Amino acid sequence: MERRAFIKKSGVAGLALAALPNLAFSKDFEYSILELMGKTDIKLYGKGINLRKEAHDAFVEMKKAAYGDGIDLKVVSSYRSFERQRSIWERKFLKYTDDGNMAPLKAIDKIIEYSTIPGTSRHHWGTDIDIVDGNRKVEGDMLVPSKFGEGEPYADFKKWMDENAKDFDFHLVYTDTPGRRGFKYEPWHYSYAPLSVPMLTEFRRKNIMQLLKNEDFYGTEHFTEGFLTNYIQDNILDINTELL
Ligand SMILES: [Zn+2]
Repeated sequence: MERRAFIKKSGVAGLALAALPNLAFSKDFEYSILELMGKTDIKLYGKGINLRKEAHDAFVEMKKAAYGDGIDLKVVSSYRSFERQRSIWERKFLKYTDDGNMAPLKAIDKIIEYSTIPGTSRHHWGTDIDIVDGNRKVEGDMLVPSKFGEGEPYADFKKWMDENAKDFDFHLVYTDTPGRRGFKYEPWHYSYAPLSVPMLTEFRRKNIMQLLKNEDFYGTEHFTEGFLTNYIQDNILDINTELL
């Protein structure tokens, strides 16, 4: 039987089988650029969790284990689309430039202390989450580094995650390692390494600089080559080395 006829007759199962032999050799094409930039719908799992299947399953296991130790791992943020990131970015850009009267480049530097350029967020991948301890009541913004310090509401959460997260393949991305550049310390942002490491590898193979030059949202006209070079080196790549 001809290959084409075989695929046609055997339907979906046949298609999957026919595609299988290629998979081992097509690592390069496992994640599309649209997927890596949050521009296409991906299948997400878990109400209020919203992660890719493997990451979701590992998170649920970790959540169970933590719960047994009195920590309620609560997801504050997980998957975020390009459009969502763009609205965060543009809101901050307008806030700093209009209300704050900042020069555009200064505003951009301020935004990228904690927020990513749309298309470059690890939250686009369905592998990364911002989590806290739902058992602790906290006034105001939860995602503030000081709240994870000694004697603070999320100190027990931090201790538990430091000791256990790796067993579930979750790693802190933006560590407090001295000299690390890019995004500031985020004790709440964890990444599921078995998926996010190959995704970052794939992303690095693309021409990120060109992709960002092609974008058009508030601030993009100020993206110089020098700025983008530093951003890619520091904000995308100067992360916990366990995730490279
Ligand atoms: Zn995050």
